[in-house]
Amino acid sequence: MTYKLPDLPYDKSALEPVIDAHTMALHHDKHHAAYVNNLNKAVENYPDVQERSPLSLIVNLDNVPEEIRTAVRNNGGGHVNHSMFWLCMSPNGGGAPSGSLGDAIDKQFGSFQDFQAALKNEAMDRFGSGWAWLCADSDGKLQVTSTANQDNPVMTGQIPLLGIDVWEHAYYLGYQNRRGDYIDAWWDVVDWSYVSSSYNLVRVGAKLDDLGDWASKQWSKVEEAWNKISGS
Ligand code: MN
Repeated sequence: MTYKLPDLPYDKSALEPVIDAHTMALHHDKHHAAYVNNLNKAVENYPDVQERSPLSLIVNLDNVPEEIRTAVRNNGGGHVNHSMFWLCMSPNGGGAPSGSLGDAIDKQFGSFQDFQAALKNEAMDRFGSGWAWLCADSDGKLQVTSTANQDNPVMTGQIPLLGIDVWEHAYYLGYQNRRGDYIDAWWDVVDWSYVSSSYNLVRVGAKLDDLGDWASKQWSKVEEAWNKISGS
């Protein structure tokens, strides 16, 4: 097994009532696990590809052999997106970001409430399955966007800071067709300290003209967070 399913950073019931334990169990143990398994299957006969982090793979899909490119896009994207999604949430989450991220959000969107409305619009407008994101563009400027399926903003040169999964598997047991209610409730579990640390990496650590450099730093940060979890 080249790529591994990380443990959830909290109990499956920890995000209740926003996200119920059954949804978390299926989402992590079945859906995320399937992306990891299928990514491993796709790269089985490609030792050079296996050496790269999942984030590096999707940052530059052109460097992935064509015959496995779609599988890596879907399953590598799924692995990366979910790995970050779990870390972007916490039972102690909610509120609004402070510091440089809070300032940047106010500057770009007018207010935190305006930002929330803009992200919700992206999430509601995404037809079918996908994600909505807060990203930094190549100038470090914040913006909201959405992606289809398991695509990630890095595939179009943007740096993802916070993403919300709007596949039905993420909310259907608790909210059925009410995607808007799920989004409204989700703000209560967003871990702004983690999102801020990702933003600070963009501000000070990574060259925005070099997404590969950012990818290796960001993925180290993700792995560091997982190691802390499994070590505790
Ligand atoms: Mn999902």
